[in-house]
Amino acid sequence: MNDGGHVALRALKRLSAELLPTSWLVRHGPSDRPLVALTFDDGPDAHTLALLDALDAHRLVATFFVVGRQVERFPEAARAIVERGHEIASHSWAHDRVGTLSVAAHARDLARVQAILPRASRRRPLYRPPWGDVTPRTLATTAALGYTTALWSLDSLDHRPIGREGIARQLASHRPRPGDVVLLHEGEAETRAALADVAALLAADGLGTAQMSDLLGG
Ligand SMILES: [Zn+2]
Repeated sequence: MNDGGHVALRALKRLSAELLPTSWLVRHGPSDRPLVALTFDDGPDAHTLALLDALDAHRLVATFFVVGRQVERFPEAARAIVERGHEIASHSWAHDRVGTLSVAAHARDLARVQAILPRASRRRPLYRPPWGDVTPRTLATTAALGYTTALWSLDSLDHRPIGREGIARQLASHRPRPGDVVLLHEGEAETRAALADVAALLAADGLGTAQMSDLLGG
């Protein structure tokens, strides 16, 4: 990115908290209901069904930001996400840095994933760029094509090698509050194990879970 791009990005980050329409970019939902959204990135994979079982065991609902080429490899797992009551949404085709793509290439990437998802969203579809990589250009492209860029307000840090206890400690110290969107990842046994801790933490504060689109919908 050139200097102008960096200046624009800093300005965007300042503005995004207050002025950007929430149809463009969201990090959390409203705080007036006792709900949070659990979000799982980077699947589906060979462990998706085990994750769905763990969610069922703890009566948790989630949103899965899936990678298109993984959906191509594990179509049954992708269908199971929807059939078992969770939300599925795009996390790009190949987990590339979308900020480096041209507008046309980014638009093609979005369309390619949307075409392979098991069920078209009834609502404005959510889109989470890999690494939360947001630039003014990617944000404008996704908004113009009808997507809401969906980031998160609470990072479980499960992408670091901190284990179940580390994940539980991170979430306990940044105690989830109504409207929070929690970032988690598929494929890690530690994350699946930590769902017991997540469920206990939420129950202690009287919080339930909702699909991210429902959380945002009010
Ligand atoms: Zn990712």
